[in-house]
Amino acid sequence: MLRKFINRVFKRDDASTAREPAVIPFSSHGMGREQISSGSRRVCAALSERGYKAYVVGGAVRDLLAQVTPKDFDVATDATPDEVRRCLRRSRLIGRRFQIVHAYMGQEVIEITTFRGALGEDAKTDAHGRVLRDNVFGSQAEDAARRDFTVNALYFDPATEQILDYHHGVADLKQKTLRVIGDPKTRYREDPVRMLRAIRLAAKLGLAIDPAARRPIREMAGLLENVPAARLSDEIFKLLSSGHAVQCLRQLHAEGLHQGTLPLLDVVLRTPEGERFIMLALADTDARIRQDKSSAPCFLFAALLWREVGAVWRRIRETGEHPLPALHQAMNEVLSAQGQKLAITRRVAGDIKEIWALQPRFEHRVGRRPYSVLEHPRFRAAYDFLRLRAKAGEIDAALPAWWLEFQDADSEARAQLLATLSPEGAKRRKRRRSRRGGKGTQGAEGEDAAMDSAALSGDNAKNDAAA
Ligand code: ATP
Ligand code: MG
Repeated sequence: MLRKFINRVFKRDDASTAREPAVIPFSSHGMGREQISSGSRRVCAALSERGYKAYVVGGAVRDLLAQVTPKDFDVATDATPDEVRRCLRRSRLIGRRFQIVHAYMGQEVIEITTFRGALGEDAKTDAHGRVLRDNVFGSQAEDAARRDFTVNALYFDPATEQILDYHHGVADLKQKTLRVIGDPKTRYREDPVRMLRAIRLAAKLGLAIDPAARRPIREMAGLLENVPAARLSDEIFKLLSSGHAVQCLRQLHAEGLHQGTLPLLDVVLRTPEGERFIMLALADTDARIRQDKSSAPCFLFAALLWREVGAVWRRIRETGEHPLPALHQAMNEVLSAQGQKLAITRRVAGDIKEIWALQPRFEHRVGRRPYSVLEHPRFRAAYDFLRLRAKAGEIDAALPAWWLEFQDADSEARAQLLATLSPEGAKRRKRRRSRRGGKGTQGAEGEDAAMDSAALSGDNAKNDAAA
């Protein structure tokens, strides 16, 4: 009722019939050309000098209006990719089916897209209605209607400082509403990833998802299963590294989107301890990202999969396998099961394993070993991971505290720190070694450490079982 009334009063058009955009002058939106990057400004100028339309579009306009720093600046134009290339000397064609142009402006890479046309009746889809091909050029109005949310269909002209608003995106942004352009069900069917984008953008910008866009999510969540793993993983990674991962995860839960979409999260969130660990890990990465500190993907994935590795590790050890080979087997098993679904690259998988494999080594503070741990290229991430485990109550906080001191100490103080380590611990280690016939090899010592760590995870196993 209310929607209909609003539509009538504000003449809110149907997505497919919207033709004339509202032209919003600088005096009402207040976004000046100096706020966009110099690269995107120069790209627009170069194109419009040759008579083409060129606008900064999408996320950048939305973010600037919402006073969020944009990640990148994209340009949309009516020039074809070949025409764009002729206007910009340092540019390159990207993509085969739908070509876009990358222009290199100093340090910046500007993505330039030719207006996309409406989806034809004969658009190629999979059995569930997901659009597989999307490669016709069209008018600017069609380009606007193809975008996902009203706040993403805003075109900023640096020359006039006007915003062309096809779907009342500026008003929606002011009212803090994320609204889908057109019929939400149809748009989710065309591309189910839009449901995840809705959650991420709402969290990032502090918007409420319009009820009409929110309602169908639960029943359509299953469609995400047909999305190629690489695309899904890309979006999930964006979500987890958005700086608002905790909020996103809560919302995913609330919308029933975590199940199936993120079987991985199903596993880790099954027990209160698992959930606590993940939420702490994400709160940690959120804070780092918001402070502009880099946060490597390997840390995030290492945290997400850690509990599962622990469970598999325990299972393998119960078969009588030695702790260290069992750990390696567990790491490989978990990564090959989840890695595919999450499209974790081989390189990232290698980094994740290093973070995990360093955990038992932190506990073994004898002789030269702590020095080699310190020199390990993954030390920083692995140490942060150790701190996280302590925060989650998985290990004693004294361990990361010791390593903090050890890192910062000079060589004399380091020797001192090693010497003053609990003599009890040293005695225990010595006893174990002599029980095994005095084997002083690296493998045996590593095993001790792994056993210490195994004991700790054993405690958690009990907690999990109790929960
Ligand atoms: P951010 O850059 O913060 O991740 P964004 O909205 O800019 O968010 P991009 O992936 O950079 O996301 O996409 C740029 C623009 O392309 C969007 O603003 C939107 O207009 C359009 N777009 C992106 N993905 C989709 C999609 N799945 N369906 C329709 N339009 C999309
Ligand atoms: Mg963007």
